[in-house]
Amino acid sequence: MPSTNESSEINTAERLALVKSNVMTAASAGGRDGNDVTLVAVSKTQPAEAIVRVIEAGQVDFGENRVQEAKEKWPALKEQYPHIRLHLLGNLQSNKLRDALALFDVFHTLDRPKLAAAMARLRDEDGMAMPQCFVQVNTGEELQKAGVGPRDVDQFVAQCGNEFGLQVAGLMCIPPNDEDAALHFAFLAKLARRNGLSGLSMGMSSDYEMAAEMGATHIRVGTAIFGPRTF
Ligand SMILES: *Cc1c(COP(=O)(O)O)cnc(C)c1O
Repeated sequence: MPSTNESSEINTAERLALVKSNVMTAASAGGRDGNDVTLVAVSKTQPAEAIVRVIEAGQVDFGENRVQEAKEKWPALKEQYPHIRLHLLGNLQSNKLRDALALFDVFHTLDRPKLAAAMARLRDEDGMAMPQCFVQVNTGEELQKAGVGPRDVDQFVAQCGNEFGLQVAGLMCIPPNDEDAALHFAFLAKLARRNGLSGLSMGMSSDYEMAAEMGATHIRVGTAIFGPRTF
C-alpha cells in the first residue's frame, strides 16, 4: 500500500504533466509554441509540503497573492531551491512593497502611479532590484476589482517608462466571473499590442487553455495543479 504522501506525489506530478500537455496542445491550436507559455503554479493557501511536491516534479515558477503569506512560506523554500521564480499575483499595498521586492521576481499587479513611484524610489535610494512588471488591467471595469481602467492603460504604461524608468513587460487581467473570458483575453492582447508589449498574463485553471491559444505568455494555474484549496 502506498502511503498517502506517495499517492499525492503521484497525483501532483500527473496533474502538472496534464496541465503542461494541455498547454502544448492549446498553444499549437493557436499557431504558437507551448514552450513560450510560462506556467505559474499558484500556491496560495497551500502548505510547504504540497509546494515541495510540485517543485520536485520540476516546476520553477510559483505565484502567491499575499505578501504576508509568501513571507511565511517562501524564504525557507527559496533557500532550499534557489532557482525558483516567485510571482506576485495579488494587490500590493505600499507598506508591503519593500518585503515584496525582496521576495518576488515578477509583479503581475502593478496598477497605480503611486506604487510605481515608490518602487522607483526604493531602486534609486536603496539600490533594490526591480521585478519584471505586468500592469493589471481591469478589463471588465468592475468596481470591486483592482487594475488600471482600459482607457488609462496607454498613459500609465508610458508613465511607468518615462517618469519612473520602469520597463513594463506586459499586461495582466482577471476576467469577470460571469463573462466569456475569451473576449477579455482578446481585448487584453489588443491593448498590449497597441503599447508594443509582448507579455500577456492571462488564464487560470478554468480557462488557461483558451488563454494559451490566444497568446498568453504567462498562465496562472492553482487548483488544476494543487487540487482544490481547502481554506
Ligand atoms: C488564485 C489565483 C489564480 C489561480 O486560480 P485557480 O482558479 O486556482 O487556477 C490565478 N490568478 C490570480 C490573480 C489568483 O488570485
